[in-house]
Amino acid sequence: MSLKIYNTLTRQKDLFTPLAPPYVGMYVCGPTVYNNAHLGNVRTFMTFDLLFRYLTHLGYKVRYVRNITDVGHLVGDGDEGEDKIGRMAKLEQLEPMEIVQRYTNDFHRVMEDFNILPPSIEPTATGHLIEQIEAVQDLIKKGLAYESNGSVYFDINAYNAAGNDYGKLSGRILEDLLNETRELDGQSEKRNPLDFAIWKNASPEHLMQWNSPWGRGFPGWHLECTCMSAKYLGNQFDIHGGGMDLKFPHHECEIAQGKGLTGTDPVRYWMHTNMLTVNGQKMSKSLGNSFLPAQLFSGDHELLEQAYSPMTVRFFMLQSQYRSTLDFSNDALKAAQKGFKRLANGLRVLKSLEYVAEEGVVSDEKKREDIEKSLQGFYDGMNDDLNTSVAIAHLFNLLKYVNMLYMNQLKAAALGEDLFAKLKENFIIFFEDVLGLQEEPAEGTAVLTGMLNLYREYKAAQQYDKVDEVRSYFKNQGLVIRDMKHRIDWAYEE
Ligand code: AMP
Ligand code: ZN
Repeated sequence: MSLKIYNTLTRQKDLFTPLAPPYVGMYVCGPTVYNNAHLGNVRTFMTFDLLFRYLTHLGYKVRYVRNITDVGHLVGDGDEGEDKIGRMAKLEQLEPMEIVQRYTNDFHRVMEDFNILPPSIEPTATGHLIEQIEAVQDLIKKGLAYESNGSVYFDINAYNAAGNDYGKLSGRILEDLLNETRELDGQSEKRNPLDFAIWKNASPEHLMQWNSPWGRGFPGWHLECTCMSAKYLGNQFDIHGGGMDLKFPHHECEIAQGKGLTGTDPVRYWMHTNMLTVNGQKMSKSLGNSFLPAQLFSGDHELLEQAYSPMTVRFFMLQSQYRSTLDFSNDALKAAQKGFKRLANGLRVLKSLEYVAEEGVVSDEKKREDIEKSLQGFYDGMNDDLNTSVAIAHLFNLLKYVNMLYMNQLKAAALGEDLFAKLKENFIIFFEDVLGLQEEPAEGTAVLTGMLNLYREYKAAQQYDKVDEVRSYFKNQGLVIRDMKHRIDWAYEE
């Protein structure tokens, strides 16, 4: 086991060594639930689902915390302006918690559609206000935060004076950041324009607000993740993930808060996923180039040439490694659909294959070696910072042998019982458990088996019009009948 993970903090692939094996603590910034999850969000959560699955497969006991942001995330991601959820609540004339509930439900449905496993704990920011208020008090006590007009700000100068380096994760230089900032000296509540809010004073019309030692207000966006990760994973934990766009300021601020509170760096491995793009531009709600999963499944969007199934999309995303950008296109999705169906067919037939010992079959050393190489190659790919594109290439090489066995071009006995069993077991584990792919038959398999029996009967009775009817029954569901010399079967149309 030598999993390497690209660590944004060290800017290199680091060997993954958990703090307290076999336990692994992993925190991922969850969605802000003020609108429907789009496909870009899905890419990020799918990446960490893959990691969660792979670590579990390797034998680690993972506590995976993925929060729900239901307060404090302001429009524009800064310290000023409306709360994203509050704004939506006003627009729709709903209670903010109705917005939160609606889009949390939507998020869960989307995660399930893509076979993304639920995390071990899914805490909410509003459920941890006491922890956040205590953290603010503690930071003030430590001289790392100050109150100003009912708001409390993290004091970057004090933090850096204590020997810290705000900006180390994202590689930002303080002077550059100062030049970029729009806030003018002397007009702000802040001592330094880079200071960020950990508690905000709420005006009367602000919908979500609570009592605090500093008056009515609400927590700053960055604080929730610090408090919830520390509560459930400890002051220092193994992995923290999120999309690349969260590196700065969100994750930079999390480091400052965590280090300020406990004196230790909160996270050992920082992982960031690259963006899903459309024509080279980040897919985002605000740019108007985002798809909702439901639109993909129905094909109902001007940029879509056809409908795509959840597993086609999952496979499309997994084909590229999470740190490369992934550009959405119909061509790429169609190719993914073909590839996924080929693998799904392989999985189906493999499940039905049994080892047959045959006298006089010579062992095929070359094929045996190649299979062993690809079984190992899958792991090597995954261990190289979750390089799924390499891992999947090896899965396709294994598929070649599965199909040869199925077509009787290769005898199981030529592989030997152990290797045959290993191939079968691992192919299924790679496909289902690690990559999280699933077969998607339109009908229950019992119905399909019944229809195949009818096909055999009609064929034997030479009722060819009926035979054609059965064929089109399959075709209408994206399936085909494979009528081979040694067997008759159905398969996904590739
Ligand atoms: P949000 O709900 O906007 O806070 O986003 C939830 C997660 O989705 C964050 O980790 C974002 O970084 C991530 N995300 C947003 N847009 C994209 C995108 N186009 N591609 C990949 N991840 C994204
Ligand atoms: Zn976060």
